[in-house]
Amino acid sequence: MEKLLVSSCLMGCKVRYNGSDLPMSQADFGWLAEHFELVSFCPEVAGGLPTPRPPAEIDVGAGSDVLSGGSRVIGNDGVDVSEAFINGAHLALQVCQAHNIRFAMLTESSPSCGSATIYDGSFGGIKKQGQGVAAALLVQHGIHVFSQETFNDFKVLMENNYPKLSGVECV
Ligand code: SF4
Repeated sequence: MEKLLVSSCLMGCKVRYNGSDLPMSQADFGWLAEHFELVSFCPEVAGGLPTPRPPAEIDVGAGSDVLSGGSRVIGNDGVDVSEAFINGAHLALQVCQAHNIRFAMLTESSPSCGSATIYDGSFGGIKKQGQGVAAALLVQHGIHVFSQETFNDFKVLMENNYPKLSGVECV
């Protein structure tokens, strides 16, 4: 069965900065679990950060800028946590490469896992377009990243392109 990397907090693990989770709907989770072997991963915890931890945002730019050293991830306590974010991103990539993972379902708007939006660095609750650090690294290496907000796009893509997922017997 194909493996899918999933943000740990989407799977109900209480690993978010405030010690909470962000579980997917039962229906969406059930569909994923039926069709994929789910590999739970939290880049921030893997990168060495504790839970709970201060919320963090990318100061300018997006995840790719952090990876190239042009931007930083800063906690709301002023601490630069870029190194932990970058380490966690590389560990996520290692997991994907070790398991031949081609697709990931990551939490939208996270400074690690966001795939379409992130917060703008002001800690004012303002989102902008951009990817988090781990999502950016996975995309750079050809992994297709979706989120709980693009779940239906992912489901349609899978059902249209992978007959086994839509119940068609291939002989
Ligand atoms: Fe969830 Fe990703 Fe944040 Fe970990 S880094 S808590 S998996 S959004």
